[in-house]
Amino acid sequence: MHRNKYLTLSGLEPLVVTPESNFINVGERTNVTGSRKFLRLIKEEKYDEALEVARHQVEGGAQIIDVNMDEGMLDGVHAMTTFLNLIASEPDIARVPIMIDSSKWEIIEAGLQVVQGKCVVNSISLKEGEAEFKRQAKLIKRYGAAVIVMAFDEVGQADNYQRRIDICKRSYDILVNEIKFPPQDIIFDPNIFPVATGMEEHRKNALDFFNATKWIRENLPFANVSGGVSNVSFSFRGNNSVREAMHSAFLYHAIKNGMNLGIVNPTMLEVYDEIPKDLLERVEDVLLDRRDDATERLLEFADSVKGLKKEEENTVQEWRKEDLQSRITHALVKGIDTFIIEDVEEARLNYQRPIEVIEGPLMVGMNVVGDLFGDGKMFLPQVVKSARVMKKAVAYLQPFIEAEKDGKVESAGKILMATVKGDVHDIGKNIVSVVLGCNNYEILDLGVMVPPEKIIETAVKENVDVIGLSGLITPSLDEMVYVSKEMNKQNLDIPLMIGGATTSRAHSAVKIAPNYEHTVVHVNDASRAVTVVGNLLQENNKDFKNQIREEYNKFRIQFLNRTKKKEYVSIEEARKNKFKIDWDEVEIIKPKELGVQEIQDFDISKLEAYIDWSPFFRSWDLHGKFPEILEDEVVGAQASELFKDAQQLLQRVFEEKLLIAKAVFGLFPANTINDDDVEVSYVSSSAVENKKETYKFLTLRQQLKKREGIPNYALADFIAPKSSGSQDYIGAFCVTAGFGTQALAQQFEEDHDDYNAIMIKALADRLAEAFAEYLHKEVRTKYWSYAANENFTNEELIKENYKGIRPAPGYPACPDHLEKETIWELLDVENKIGVKLTESLAMWPAASVSGYYFGNENAKYFGLGKIKNDQLFDYAKRRGISTEEALKWLNPNLVET
Ligand code: SAH
Repeated sequence: MHRNKYLTLSGLEPLVVTPESNFINVGERTNVTGSRKFLRLIKEEKYDEALEVARHQVEGGAQIIDVNMDEGMLDGVHAMTTFLNLIASEPDIARVPIMIDSSKWEIIEAGLQVVQGKCVVNSISLKEGEAEFKRQAKLIKRYGAAVIVMAFDEVGQADNYQRRIDICKRSYDILVNEIKFPPQDIIFDPNIFPVATGMEEHRKNALDFFNATKWIRENLPFANVSGGVSNVSFSFRGNNSVREAMHSAFLYHAIKNGMNLGIVNPTMLEVYDEIPKDLLERVEDVLLDRRDDATERLLEFADSVKGLKKEEENTVQEWRKEDLQSRITHALVKGIDTFIIEDVEEARLNYQRPIEVIEGPLMVGMNVVGDLFGDGKMFLPQVVKSARVMKKAVAYLQPFIEAEKDGKVESAGKILMATVKGDVHDIGKNIVSVVLGCNNYEILDLGVMVPPEKIIETAVKENVDVIGLSGLITPSLDEMVYVSKEMNKQNLDIPLMIGGATTSRAHSAVKIAPNYEHTVVHVNDASRAVTVVGNLLQENNKDFKNQIREEYNKFRIQFLNRTKKKEYVSIEEARKNKFKIDWDEVEIIKPKELGVQEIQDFDISKLEAYIDWSPFFRSWDLHGKFPEILEDEVVGAQASELFKDAQQLLQRVFEEKLLIAKAVFGLFPANTINDDDVEVSYVSSSAVENKKETYKFLTLRQQLKKREGIPNYALADFIAPKSSGSQDYIGAFCVTAGFGTQALAQQFEEDHDDYNAIMIKALADRLAEAFAEYLHKEVRTKYWSYAANENFTNEELIKENYKGIRPAPGYPACPDHLEKETIWELLDVENKIGVKLTESLAMWPAASVSGYYFGNENAKYFGLGKIKNDQLFDYAKRRGISTEEALKWLNPNLVET
């Protein structure tokens, strides 16, 4: 059988080093020459603790562990065999392959005799001549191990490009041609040497390594390349920021050139893309030998980056040793709250007044955070974590401040934030509040479902500088329009800032700005909010305000002109051009279980597998598809940290059952009548119910003039019309995972922990969507059972590869939120599971999802687009409401006249 020749190692589990595996990292903490702690443990024969070091490495992601017992005072053979035997009985360590590391052949051989699985010998070379090299290689081959071959010969270490490739080629030929050593089991180490040592002959050390690596991978078939990375930064010992940057940059280039294994200390790595650009440039100048003064320039720079270090085992002590301001700044930038009270207390004793601690060192630190965020070097989740540290510090100082007269913090301005009446969503608003708070603005957060009178009254009474309105569902847009009109009536001149998922520049410019004689500005991301508010509140803000107004006027004119260009057809014509299904050809499957069912207290831990994580990252302003986002060059490190925190809280939610999930759903006979209405026949599944016989689901139809052959869709097209004589079916559902969210968020807020307060809401949203996905699958495979045998991965579910859809009121195919009232009546949602509808028809708790089930395989999502007045009138009549009210619910479609 032909196999690809890939290095294959094993502990209890196999490790195949394919081109896809990118880079295999070897743990190096179980090495007495590299770790003092490990040396001490071995010397004192504390093998239990030594095993913990190994376990820690594996848990930390090491894919191979390097074991080295080369120490003058140690009996190396004894230590090696003892330790390897102990590892063999620890399945969670023995899972990964071992690298037996020694410069003494007897220790290597002793290791080979006891190790289980397929290991790597580290290392052999031509140092002692060909004969010894061959002898060792043969033995290794017989033991069935892979081998690291150092670029070393009788003359010495290969220290330039030519010697590196010559020695590797010579070694390779002997091993492959003479010994018949499997080439894929050869790993070359072409020597990683320090750079920026000040010595001319070291300038090309890294560059030669990269080039040699490339040559080996191209010219010595199947051979691998490895190296010990930390050596490269040897001349910067004590400056971890620079070392970390050097390691990552080195790895980046080495991997690009073909290095596929390496010994790296993962805590001594910065994420390549998180290396400040100026540092990176200097580091790469050195590694790639790009300029004569590269070393000097890096040394110069090294001092300036000392302050910003990663929090990790071996540097914790170091940043704690720095001056007070550096410590406070570090804690804020890194979001570490462990020492903040202690540092703030020290600061308080240094200043005359407690308030000066806020105005002084804390603000200095927060300014660094603000700058990093502004420069795109910090991302939202990190900033929210910084805010948590800041809040804890301020909360500690508060009693001292209150104890003195006139102790009031000078803020940069007062900002009122509110989610408008009828809306319950506040993740975005809270993030913006936190970020503005970080920039020294005083935030008056009125919460959710805030009536317009309260917004205006508070704004006047508190003399705020900006009003920020937020909302997620489309009826909130109308509510914002209303607030702007009221503000004008009452002669307010406070700038109005609009944000939230369905808000847009178009809506703000076209529908809000014309109502308010003062500034209206749409801001949909937190970092822009800081800039915009900053500009609004500077002394001379006239220009800025005028500029916004002009922009919006121009935009409005353009927008209105643009929308006129599209052609629309009458509702009558649109209906003629409906999507036609040949119902005689369709096999309609009758649901196995008709009627309403409920699920109380669902085990939410089952939902983990159904979570779609991508929108979670989006809610934190990190854009990209999961899981790739975790590896993303720009936001990967941030995303990973956020994901880790999310996982932690999620596990807590599962273990302590902090959230309660419920669902109600039903399957009913249904047929389309009068083209666009779906008549649903109620079926009782229990005795005592007070129900109508039929309910009506009113769908809306696209009116954009379509190209020949393209239909004007309405959801009703996917259900068999009564006239076809076929009995069809429809489903409806509401799921929630939101009970418990509010209490938890409140607890976190009381603890000044906005980060987790926002996190729990974002997670509850994810669980609700996951529940919708899960229940839909259950319906398809069990309750309705039209796809009993489907079997999709979560990824395929997210891609909606299954048959059927679950359109949700308020989304593009059925933008009309009023449908929720129908679903609520049909399923008795509030009575059964307690999910309520607000006056704007937002669901409460916010983490809820509702919709219809369509089973037809042609059913698909689409966007309604704009509709004409004729359909608006017709729709109002079908609903039995006034045109004005209909307009309110169909608001975002800016109906064509
Ligand atoms: N997996 C995503 C789903 C988001 S879309 C998540 O976890 O967030 C949410 C839901 O909106 C879909 O599951 C579907 O029920 C509904 N939906 C999507 N597009 C729609 C459209 N064009 N019209 C009506 N409903 C739609």
